[in-house]
Amino acid sequence: MSTKQKHNTNPFEMALKQVDLAARHMDLEPGLVARLKSPEKEVIAHFPARMSDGQLKIFTGYRVQHNDTRGPYKGGLRYHPLTDLDEVRALAMWMTWKSAVVNIPFGGAKGGIQCNPKEMSSTEIESMTRRFTYEISSIIGPDLDIPAPDVYTNPQVMAWIMDTYSIIQGRTVGGVVTGKPLELGGSLGRFEATGKGVFITALEAVKSKGLQMEGQKVAIQGSGNVGGVAARYFAQAGCKVVALSDSKGGVYNPGGLDVEHALACKNKYACVMGPEIEGEEINNEQLLTLDCDILVPSALEGVITKHNASQIQAGIIAEGANGPTTPGADAILEDKGVLIVPDILANAGGVTVSYFEWVQNLQNLLWSEKEIDSRLTGILQKSFAEVRKTSQQKKVGMRVAALILGIDRVVSAMKLRGIYP
Ligand code: NAD
Repeated sequence: MSTKQKHNTNPFEMALKQVDLAARHMDLEPGLVARLKSPEKEVIAHFPARMSDGQLKIFTGYRVQHNDTRGPYKGGLRYHPLTDLDEVRALAMWMTWKSAVVNIPFGGAKGGIQCNPKEMSSTEIESMTRRFTYEISSIIGPDLDIPAPDVYTNPQVMAWIMDTYSIIQGRTVGGVVTGKPLELGGSLGRFEATGKGVFITALEAVKSKGLQMEGQKVAIQGSGNVGGVAARYFAQAGCKVVALSDSKGGVYNPGGLDVEHALACKNKYACVMGPEIEGEEINNEQLLTLDCDILVPSALEGVITKHNASQIQAGIIAEGANGPTTPGADAILEDKGVLIVPDILANAGGVTVSYFEWVQNLQNLLWSEKEIDSRLTGILQKSFAEVRKTSQQKKVGMRVAALILGIDRVVSAMKLRGIYP
């Protein structure tokens, strides 16, 4: 049973509560707050795809476009059995604030299909992806809404979306998605961007406490595009990655895991706890409360709750995942003095390099890895400093500070555009 099911965490309720918490420190008219809380458009598609056994299967997919005041809607596409409209709404809203926190000219959107890709063949995933792309083809596009990878989607899925959309348009449209394979106009550094951004912002947090990254004990939940990549950066910086997990459970070694070996096990056995791993088997709940300095939840939302927050030992939480911490847990962690690098800052490296990919596609340019790296680092360091300054000025935690910063940028843009008619 997932944490979301167990504690009945509704991510959209969490996201709405966060807006209220930030709005307390902002001078916003109630109608504007109501507008910020409402997604602008929502598409729910029930659509067929043919399975390998010849049967037709009906899938339900969502695309929620929360806000495009500052630029085209932007956000990932998730394939997961438990995804639903409220989850996608929350993720779309967080994308709006995230794009604004790092000050890139995008709005926020998110998509999801209720499915279990682990039980589907590649051909079945392709059929489902192509048909869903058709269903949302009138509402996506390089200057309209640009999907990207999220949980259990990857560059290949982006290639199928790009191909289907391009066929519908009668021309190749690379900029309709980001996170594409390099051969199709993907950007150097996009695959690593989110995990690397988690590391860069965690490093800023460590420095802000007057500490050194080397020797920090790090526990990471999730070992996919975000958690797995982040683990490599922490290990390269001389941290002890004491725990790593995936959907099946995790592994703990207080002396530090061999990260490359654990990720190789994940590739070989589809689970980090491979037979050759030196460490103790743990579950995903135990991972969160281990003895560590930096906790990096990088799987799903709603895992740090009021039920386990008081047992968390880490002094820093760098949120690789979107929405891993509930507002109830936030209050407890703040009382304990835990420094949270919130999701809309910590994992914003992904959307930042997606922006670089989109800019390169629109201009038919190819930036070097060095160029991308220095721009990404610069944007994230600046954003961290801005959030920290807001946190100090307003005397609020880093999450509320990031929300204030992001929401304020969206509100300023809304006010300038005015209300039509
Ligand atoms: P992914 O599919 O690459 O990896 C997901 C990882 O989480 C896998 O290791 C999987 O085994 C693990 N997992 C799944 N269910 C779990 C569970 N119940 N408990 C513990 N682990 C579980 O996905 P990702 O791209 O790494 O995304 C992870 C998180 O990061 C999500 O919250 C996503 O929204 C967020 N995020 C991703 C990106 C991106 O660029 N990919 C950007 C910003 C935020």
